[in-house]
Amino acid sequence: SRGALLVALVGSGIGPSLSPALHEREAERAGLPYRYRRIDLDEWGLPPEAVGDVVAVTRDAGYRGLNITHPCKQEVLAHLDGLSADAEALGAVNTVVFTDGRAVGHNTDWSGFTRGLAEGMPGVRLDSVVLLGAGGAGAAVAHGLLTQGAGTVRIFDLDRHRGEDLEASLAARFGGGRATAGHGDDQLARAVHAADGLVHATPTGMAAHPGLPLPADLLRPDLWVADVVYRPLDTELVTTAAAAGCRVLDGGRMAVFQAAEAFRLFTGTEPDTGRMLRHFDVL
Ligand code: NAD
Repeated sequence: SRGALLVALVGSGIGPSLSPALHEREAERAGLPYRYRRIDLDEWGLPPEAVGDVVAVTRDAGYRGLNITHPCKQEVLAHLDGLSADAEALGAVNTVVFTDGRAVGHNTDWSGFTRGLAEGMPGVRLDSVVLLGAGGAGAAVAHGLLTQGAGTVRIFDLDRHRGEDLEASLAARFGGGRATAGHGDDQLARAVHAADGLVHATPTGMAAHPGLPLPADLLRPDLWVADVVYRPLDTELVTTAAAAGCRVLDGGRMAVFQAAEAFRLFTGTEPDTGRMLRHFDVL
């Protein structure tokens, strides 16, 4: 693959990631020589801090860029020469592009989410949205919702501090009161009753974390539900909400659109997102 554009995914336990296949197939169809590798910190016995060395080594080896995933999205910031405005606001980077020896960080998770929501559930009301999970995905979702003009976002995380930290960082960016952390079953029930929609951004529903992230009886037909979990696509939340009559969006579009935007940053070429979505469906 001499002369091919070189890119890699860096993180822990990334073996099952669909990103390499998504990127390489799109590049092949677009006629671009392109290699997308995995650099799994677990395989090398490396801690998250080693992401700095990976950035330096891949930059020097002529890589075009990196995708960064768990547990390095925050860790990597200290090793970059510049940040997009959104990555800086979020304090998280999932895409690094090397340009003239400089490593610049971007975040395509939040834009992937908003594009997925806009295309997958067009026209839904965003006056009042409940967000479950205030980790990396939750922070990207909240940034996306408020950037899209959501009225208020109520944040619930089992770890109270994470919810409150996200509330504080969103208040600094979007003004006080737009996003507030709630706690406990009663507040969650009241918030969901009053909400137009619910976004789920915890690992619940993945094979290692089975189950529902909220009581099923809170789901009602006029509540839309978006899940960011995409392995599997048909989480218990997605199937339960659909059975309850909710408009439902699974995590697939967010996964594809974050990859598509990273592909555009790496190649300078607009990917065919319809083709990427169809490819994702058969992976
Ligand atoms: P994370 O560990 O950073 O954050 C998860 C948060 O959820 C934690 O703060 C935890 O305390 C909280 N939590 C766990 N169970 C909860 C519950 N029942 N109610 C409320 N809060 C709860 O994880 P992350 O990186 O944000 O990832 C979360 C999920 O999002 C994963 O399944 C990941 O695969 C998925 N994800 C999908 C995409 C996509 O493109 N579709 C992108 C990023 C992440």
